[in-house]
Amino acid sequence: MDNAKVGASCRVAGAAWALTFTSEVLQLIGTHAQRGRVSRESVGQLYCRDLTTANIVVGHATALPRTRAFFTGVQFNPAVAMEERTSLFQSGWHCVGLWHSHPESHPQPSSTDAALAKDHATAAATHLNGLVFAILGTQPLPEGLSVWLHDGARFSKAEWEL
Ligand SMILES: [Zn+2]
Repeated sequence: MDNAKVGASCRVAGAAWALTFTSEVLQLIGTHAQRGRVSRESVGQLYCRDLTTANIVVGHATALPRTRAFFTGVQFNPAVAMEERTSLFQSGWHCVGLWHSHPESHPQPSSTDAALAKDHATAAATHLNGLVFAILGTQPLPEGLSVWLHDGARFSKAEWEL
């Protein structure tokens, strides 16, 4: 792998596998940081090519069109998200989770975030050990991205290996 594209890795304490975000993905997500007074929340999906390795590489991320529908904290149209997953799956990308932005430096999942994550983790349980749930704060990346795994019951926080 090209070193310039390695990005940053994080891991849940005790987990046998790590999660790597390529620098391209970090860059794309980073452009949505809510640092301005009138910033709006952004949301998108995270994709990897290979789910079988001990190092899951998030090599593609998207930003979804925002709507006012559905969950108040993370506003997107689930049908549009599903269409995107189906289309990228045809190009070999597996959706491993979601990211969205919070206008705070050390973001924590809200109760609506927890409900959303649980929903998606349960739906993805057949092919994922856990749903990646990343929240973009206002600090520089990668530290500014809080990464959580949701196993259908609870969140575990992944720590950056720097
Ligand atoms: Zn949130």
